[in-house]
Amino acid sequence: MKKIQPVRGTHDLIWDAYNKKSFIENAASDLISLYGYDEIETPILEYIEVFKDSLGITSDIVSKEMFTLTTSKGNHIALRPEGTAGVARAFVSNGLAQYLPLKLFYKGPMFRRERPQKGRLRQFHQIGIEFLGDNSFFSDIEVISLANKLLLELGLEGKFNLQINSLGDAESRQSYIKDLTKFLNDKRKDLSSDSLIRLEKNPLRILDSKDKNDIKILSNAPIFSDYLNPKSNEFYNNIKSGLDDLGIKYIENPRLVRGLDYYCHTAFEFVTKEIGSQGTVLAGGRYDGLIQRMGGTATSGVGWAAGVERLSMLIKPNGVQNKIISVISSSDELISKALIFAEELRSNGIIVDIIFSGNIKKQLKRANKIKSFAAIIIGEDEFLNGNLILKDLSNSTQKEIKIGNLVKEVKKIL
Ligand code: ATP
Ligand code: MG
Repeated sequence: MKKIQPVRGTHDLIWDAYNKKSFIENAASDLISLYGYDEIETPILEYIEVFKDSLGITSDIVSKEMFTLTTSKGNHIALRPEGTAGVARAFVSNGLAQYLPLKLFYKGPMFRRERPQKGRLRQFHQIGIEFLGDNSFFSDIEVISLANKLLLELGLEGKFNLQINSLGDAESRQSYIKDLTKFLNDKRKDLSSDSLIRLEKNPLRILDSKDKNDIKILSNAPIFSDYLNPKSNEFYNNIKSGLDDLGIKYIENPRLVRGLDYYCHTAFEFVTKEIGSQGTVLAGGRYDGLIQRMGGTATSGVGWAAGVERLSMLIKPNGVQNKIISVISSSDELISKALIFAEELRSNGIIVDIIFSGNIKKQLKRANKIKSFAAIIIGEDEFLNGNLILKDLSNSTQKEIKIGNLVKEVKKIL
């Protein structure tokens, strides 16, 4: 083994870090199910083409962020960098078109070869939803309102804003791209080398550049909303008034584009100022062209993905009270009884941690350390009289209780 260290940009999740992740994932699963979504789990490994064909070879992800490997048979495989392409692949490979419209959600680890920094990891986790087979603006409104609701459920009210934009239909994008290219062609000598490549292959992508100088140049670039044809404009307006009706506040950001090739019409991001420069916690949009690019029949889609680690940074360590009760025995012989009492408590839904070694003083110290709310002490004399000692560790009072009343007495101080 090279180093006894996790790989750069990956983390072990334990205690608070783990609890926050599962709190977020559970809250998301519960809420998303209420909207009629079914969970799907696709493999972490996919053929490289799944991402190349869908995200596009000029996307940051495909051009420089994928972890790839070659099998002994010469197949190129990638650790998935995001979830939508895999869901679209699964949709095509499993012939799910017959079940449309389909609402799917996923959660799990994603992998990107990026420079690790605050809010940017090489292995991170996403929760995402995909609403397939509905081309009405209502589905955009619903997925955005679901995202908004999730952030509220996570206790993030007032900590984020919603930014939206429209990338229009293909016709609107064509005329925009024409003028954008013209504008950028005059600035070639100042553009970053990445952006110069994109100018040839996919100029729209330049709007997503993270290069400071590119960003400065772009501040004078033509603006997308001026190029939306009437149909695209209507679609966008309907979404905005739908959000208004639901009381969901948004900021229109004409420079918002998603970094991936398959987006059209709606693009949105939920952004926070509280975790530094990687402030986008949830992002998504409409991707009507995706399934077709993957070799399926044309199927519309709209969805989003949230970054669990970025959300975790916004959530306080959970204040849930530890419900552990320690069962302490005054002698080794009584530990076998502790095992029996512990089972009885556990079958009544009470978390029990038995302490197997050390004298009573040490065992009590341990019980306090793991924040037990109470201890059951099995003392020899009391036990012979059919009693146990119940010690309330929140105020250090104790009393003798009848063995038969164990569950009832513990529940009283829960
Ligand atoms: P960014 O602009 O921050 O690079 P992105 O456009 O690459 O984001 P998406 O592909 O839209 O991000 O992924 C959706 C969400 O997943 C992001 O909004 C973010 O919360 C999270 N995410 C993306 N990349 C990372 C990463 N490397 N580490 C942690 N979270 C990430
Ligand atoms: Mg990125």
